[in-house]
Amino acid sequence: MSLMWSVKVVGLGVMALSLSLELLGWVFGRCRRRRTLNKVLFFPSKVSCVEHLFSQNSACSCFCPLPHGVETSFSCLLRHILSASSSLDLCVFSFSNMDLSRAVLLLHSKGVTIRVLSDKDYSAITGSQIGVLRKAGVCVRCDAGSVHMHHKFAVVDGRLLITGSLNWTLTAVQSNMENIIITEEAELVQPFIKEFNQIWALNDPALFYKR
Ligand SMILES: [Zn+2]
Repeated sequence: MSLMWSVKVVGLGVMALSLSLELLGWVFGRCRRRRTLNKVLFFPSKVSCVEHLFSQNSACSCFCPLPHGVETSFSCLLRHILSASSSLDLCVFSFSNMDLSRAVLLLHSKGVTIRVLSDKDYSAITGSQIGVLRKAGVCVRCDAGSVHMHHKFAVVDGRLLITGSLNWTLTAVQSNMENIIITEEAELVQPFIKEFNQIWALNDPALFYKR
């Protein structure tokens, strides 16, 4: 083989190698980016059976009349809430949805640290689950400020943020046009943790006794 050919072959080899490395970098970069969860959900949600999400047994058999094995906006929301393994901080204006209440109670029974912040006026309305949670021993604080505590967000395990227009009510889930963003982006999660801690501290009952 002439020297010219050898140079050409080596040159082509180097070029192929650098292209392969670039391709590998791109693929790994995409995989890494894909690991950060970002999801948008819209409501009203279709109605489907969510019994399997509450069951430890993956082969849970339910014979209710609702469609089974169908992923809906609501089942996706519920699944992410139930993914909590250490903590759930919930800051929600209105909370009357029985499935969501059941999810919070299930997490509480598993030893997940739960803190619930709600609005003082809405926590007392008919159907509100705030009293139910409180009775079950869940740590609840109601914002006593002069304006409404109108937030609707939850932070799961200090890493996953669920936020949007959706109140935790059946009407919001099944009837209203609502949206939710579920994200693990730390830049978005951290300010919500800070906001939660601020409102939580402001409504510490010990402060009211002092006043
Ligand atoms: Zn069912």
